[in-house]
Amino acid sequence: MAFPPAFMDELVTRNPIEDVVSQYVSLTKKGGNLFGLCPFHGEKTASFSVAPEKQIYYCFGCHKGGGVVNFIMEIESLSYPDAVRFLAKRAGMEVPEDGAYQSRYRQQERLWALCGDAARFFRQQLFLPTGRAAQQAILQRGFVRKTVNRFGFGYAPNSWDALITAMQEKGYTKQEMLDAGLVIKSEKNGRIYDRFRNRWMVPIIDLRGNVIGFGGRVLDDSTPKYLNSPETVIFNKRRNLFALNFAKKTKQEMLILCEGYMDAIALHQYGFDCAVASLGTALTDEQANLLSKYTNCVVLTYDGDEAGQNATRRAIPILEKTGLQVRVLRMEGAKDPDEYLRKFGADRFELLLRQSENQAEYRLQSLQRKFDLSQDDQRVEFLKQAANLVASFPNAVEREVYGTRAAEAAGITAEAMKLEVNKAYKRRLSRQKKEEQRVQLSPAVAQQPKVRALRYDNVRSAMAEEALLRMVLREPALFAQNNNLRAEQFSSPVLGKTYQALLDRYRQHLTVSLAVLEDVLTPEEMTHLTAVVQKEEPLVSEAAFADYCNIIQDEFRRKNLSGSEDLLAMRNRLKDKKGYGG
Ligand SMILES: [Zn+2]
Repeated sequence: MAFPPAFMDELVTRNPIEDVVSQYVSLTKKGGNLFGLCPFHGEKTASFSVAPEKQIYYCFGCHKGGGVVNFIMEIESLSYPDAVRFLAKRAGMEVPEDGAYQSRYRQQERLWALCGDAARFFRQQLFLPTGRAAQQAILQRGFVRKTVNRFGFGYAPNSWDALITAMQEKGYTKQEMLDAGLVIKSEKNGRIYDRFRNRWMVPIIDLRGNVIGFGGRVLDDSTPKYLNSPETVIFNKRRNLFALNFAKKTKQEMLILCEGYMDAIALHQYGFDCAVASLGTALTDEQANLLSKYTNCVVLTYDGDEAGQNATRRAIPILEKTGLQVRVLRMEGAKDPDEYLRKFGADRFELLLRQSENQAEYRLQSLQRKFDLSQDDQRVEFLKQAANLVASFPNAVEREVYGTRAAEAAGITAEAMKLEVNKAYKRRLSRQKKEEQRVQLSPAVAQQPKVRALRYDNVRSAMAEEALLRMVLREPALFAQNNNLRAEQFSSPVLGKTYQALLDRYRQHLTVSLAVLEDVLTPEEMTHLTAVVQKEEPLVSEAAFADYCNIIQDEFRRKNLSGSEDLLAMRNRLKDKKGYGG
């Protein structure tokens, strides 16, 4: 929970958006809204609007928008809590600073500072005489000085308390060191000692440039070879990717995803500044979403061993789900990118990268491995699935080549296979056509969110969700209708989340307004929602509200049915058919 809702309500009421904005932008009235020159992008005609009735701003040029807190965050470059403090001061209000949110945020700030200081400490240690062995190890691995500096390599000395002592001198408490995962508490005597000892240290940095954890590698062959920081308040392994802070600035049109951070660092050194690595966990949905914000194409370069190949197979659908194009890079003669680069150099790797154009071959082989093709029944099933897979390749030559290959594997003629593929291809086309027609029925195609990560999976449902939100924002009393609508039935997570937050506020008798949701929504989400709210909603009635609820619930059921035949959905469908009298 963030600042107390009642406090935020008062803060927003006492800082009318039109007053706050006019301190930065000169506004003129046009209809119910105010217009001015956008302070966020250069322009000569006014496309920046403020809607006093809704207490939001929105720019039709650069599509920035939000409530008063967002505006201050953006224009004063402040964090959310600081923008709240800024506005509280403006209105002469006392900020309830002892809230859980503040203390958590303050704790995070302390831990970021602590990890930053720890990184500086490790770095100093590397260049002392005692750090010579670590320097040697780094050199032996082929890393040059430029890389050492760029990635902030360091050395954790061979001591139980060198870091503890240094950090205590800087004013950090033992508890903070525990919270940051830098030290370990002995179960026997309760004393704490340095987690990282006699290791070459690599700081893990988040997208905002904060050090959030460390990877430590041994200098010799002892074990464990790698030791990473544990999960902490600031280090969430599922939501971060190593080196994305650098890779997000790449000019390449792809990101290379590796298994280990050493691979990513090696790639950067050899000029592939688009490399990132997951942090010792299997690829997560969160990481896939994160990647899809920065690129359209991900190249997987996992290790060549069994575990790496399994990880590749698991990662492909997770990445594809976000709309990313996935390629798989196969390395012969080396187990990982790091070794490959050292053995064969950057040019050969570049070649591999270009050859990785698509994952067609890889997927066909993976499919093949699932079947015992000496058995007739398995061969039939393989052919069916292979035909479907090959039919999904967009390129005719590819369909030809891989169709032939699948035919060879299963021991049938290429012609017979071609027939199968063509049938599957036609089924696919007709499915696609139906889907397109369905989408075109609504004028919504052009209304997809600007931010890729927010795009709607189900446009029909999303349009109903948008309309429903516009209605409750104008007439919160509609919430009083008992409609059994649940946030998880929304097809768009951000619209569902907003619905839930507004409903919660309604139930607590608080203002139902977008302008008070800045702690629930990211700035990107807020921008999208202000755009949604800008659209006019001609129908505000209980009947229309019920219609939209029905559409959302219908689509939710449909989705469940088209996926695995979900038992609950099946039961509901049967119930619906029977009707209430049934
Ligand atoms: Zn603008």
